[in-house]
Amino acid sequence: MFFDSHVHLDDPQFDVDREDVLNRLTENGVDGVLNAGAPWTRMDRAVELADCWPMVWAAAGVHPGDVKKMRREDLDRLELLTRHPKCVAIGEIGLDYHYLNSEKDTQRYWFYQQLMLAKELDLPVIIHDRDAHQDCLDAVFRYGVRGVFHCYSGSAEMAKELVRHGFYCSFTGVVTYQGARRALETIAQIPLERILIETDCPYLAPVPWQKKRNEPKNVAAVAKVIAGIRGVSVEKVAEVTAQNAMCLFQMDKLWQNNEHDETKK
Ligand SMILES: [Zn+2]
Repeated sequence: MFFDSHVHLDDPQFDVDREDVLNRLTENGVDGVLNAGAPWTRMDRAVELADCWPMVWAAAGVHPGDVKKMRREDLDRLELLTRHPKCVAIGEIGLDYHYLNSEKDTQRYWFYQQLMLAKELDLPVIIHDRDAHQDCLDAVFRYGVRGVFHCYSGSAEMAKELVRHGFYCSFTGVVTYQGARRALETIAQIPLERILIETDCPYLAPVPWQKKRNEPKNVAAVAKVIAGIRGVSVEKVAEVTAQNAMCLFQMDKLWQNNEHDETKK
């Protein structure tokens, strides 16, 4: 069974069949997903979904593409959301120098504010790093947080540096695309115990579904590529990456509580 560590099931693209997709998770081999609430106008929605569905977990944070309109009181709102027992991380937060929807300075300011909040609340962070490798690396080390670089796109060297500091690297369907050489090199060079898998659905559908809406079940395609590179079974990749997510997001105790709640009903 897979744990898809980064989804956007709150996205309007799922409005037509969200319940259906969620109901079919288990039969599709996925026993849990972490929904990153982005854009920030939907953070509450992500937490609501986690509240309603036993196999959904949430992260709350303001994406670098959305920080332009961010205000100080949004940090309070963020903090309130993280009080929900199934909101297990701050994310996705980071820097995007590719799209530059907000000025670099504005992005950095709100990124640092959210890193400080994560540190204060002792929550892991989910990092969005697009063409901003060095700045992201410097920031997470400076603020002494733990977490994962989602849809990892840096070098193998940078990944090793992150791993030395206890970070995880997460891989998407991009590993099935032509030109994914760097990601494949990284997968070969860091321990499996530091790798997470994700779909980032509805985006980044793996080959051969690139033109279609991505879904959690396609996380199997990512695991398959990793299994091939590491010379282990897909089941092994599923097991270890799920355990990694459990460990990083400290979901084990919560998972049991969740089951406990179910028996109470
Ligand atoms: Zn995402």
